[in-house]
Amino acid sequence: MAKKRSKRAAKKSAARSSGRKARAVSTERGAQPRGVINGWEDDPGAGAQPSGGQVLQRPVPVLRDQPFPTRIVNPSSAPEAKPHPPGTAEFRYWVAAEALRRGSDFWGALVPGTSWEVGAILPVDLDFGVDLNAFYDREGLKFFHASAAGRTVFSGESPDIVCHELGHALLDSFKPQLFDAASIEVGAFHESFGDMSAILSALQLSSVREGVLAETGGVLRRSSRLSRLAEQLGWAIRQSVPSAVESDCLRNAVNTFFYRDPDTLPTTAPATSLSSEAHSFSRVFTGAFFEGLAGMLATTASRDERALLQVSQDMGAILVQGIRAASVVPTFMSQVAASMLAVAAARFSAQGYEAPLRSGFVRHGILPPSMAVAATHASARIAALAATPSQSKTLPTLQLSVAEYGLGVPSIVVYAAAEPKRLQVAGAALAVGAAPSPGEDQAAKSFFEDLLRRGRLKIPGAGKGAAATLRAAAPQTHETHTHELRREGKHMVLRRVRIDCGLAHH
Ligand SMILES: [Zn+2]
Repeated sequence: MAKKRSKRAAKKSAARSSGRKARAVSTERGAQPRGVINGWEDDPGAGAQPSGGQVLQRPVPVLRDQPFPTRIVNPSSAPEAKPHPPGTAEFRYWVAAEALRRGSDFWGALVPGTSWEVGAILPVDLDFGVDLNAFYDREGLKFFHASAAGRTVFSGESPDIVCHELGHALLDSFKPQLFDAASIEVGAFHESFGDMSAILSALQLSSVREGVLAETGGVLRRSSRLSRLAEQLGWAIRQSVPSAVESDCLRNAVNTFFYRDPDTLPTTAPATSLSSEAHSFSRVFTGAFFEGLAGMLATTASRDERALLQVSQDMGAILVQGIRAASVVPTFMSQVAASMLAVAAARFSAQGYEAPLRSGFVRHGILPPSMAVAATHASARIAALAATPSQSKTLPTLQLSVAEYGLGVPSIVVYAAAEPKRLQVAGAALAVGAAPSPGEDQAAKSFFEDLLRRGRLKIPGAGKGAAATLRAAAPQTHETHTHELRREGKHMVLRRVRIDCGLAHH
């Protein structure tokens, strides 16, 4: 039985990559007598409500299959593969499994031959403890549960959150040097990629495509169930810290945030403004991406759900190739954006994607207008770079003086966003042209001080008391620091230990 299912899944992904999409999506709906499970389409919540998500039936997912196999390690055994009612642990298991398989299939077609940074199979823990949170570390994915206003919320029950976390692991598989980068903007881009993964993975469901086109009247740039991410977790956080999240979701990809050098932003801010916090700042890039995606759909003749499927897959390809070609520098978002424009111009010129993509990046200040035009002049060269990414898997290191913080060491080693700049671009200034780009040393220093202010740095040994910042709401059951100072040879080295996707500890 299992073998049969596995074969069917392989056939399905072959159909998808060869472009015969009608067959791949035709199994999503309809009352099949067996071989299906129940899942949520995108989130258990809807808008400002913690419930109201759409249940749909999907073929039984086979996690161990290529590409990007995953394994749910907690719970340790799979419940019976059949449609279970919402509100049960069995239902939650298959919701998560379905989202994992869908995300792996989507990205696997775009980065063939790549495996997880953690190894052959990505372990997934669906209930690691009590928190309104989810993690990616280099062991796997970890989800949590917590109570809010009398309701228990499981972060692993939201396909939005599952595909966001999977996005972190996926990006780490083909751009591993981002993980340790001492750069606020690079960290924020990782969060944006998680949200883009949730959006693009959701669009692989025909019922989501039909639903969002109906909800927006075919104008994708309007706020919708697609742009509203993690409605239920957003609701749960809103019960205790209303200003930390949007009024109807965790984050909304339809937004009007304009780029700022993150060094000039406050450490925390309400959800209505930008801060240097990774999730907050990520919304600039996600907003530009979503506008670009909507504009790409508007260039198609039919603008229907089949066109939306094609646009989502083309956007995924442009994103992956743009990221591969992008230099890791303090103004990383502008490098990715310019590379994406170059890829769109070189590989998708017939579709006319470049103009809507450029509009999104310019309107959100990821690129100044002059540089957005110049980026496409180098299109052939950048597209070639994207095809053969040969850059190192680690970043250059930098000695950072930290004597003033009382850590017990005069200096530390950090991995700096200091790759050679392939494209002379930067984020937009508020008035004319580009904002001044900080040097990699200044970017690293502000990244480090930002960590100290947030209390997210684990400091070993004697210096601990002096620089520790306490967080009133830190969970007691598990660690939530994102970085630590690790002794490696003669040096203390700043290393990331996890990507923490929660917003509840402000
Ligand atoms: Zn995240």
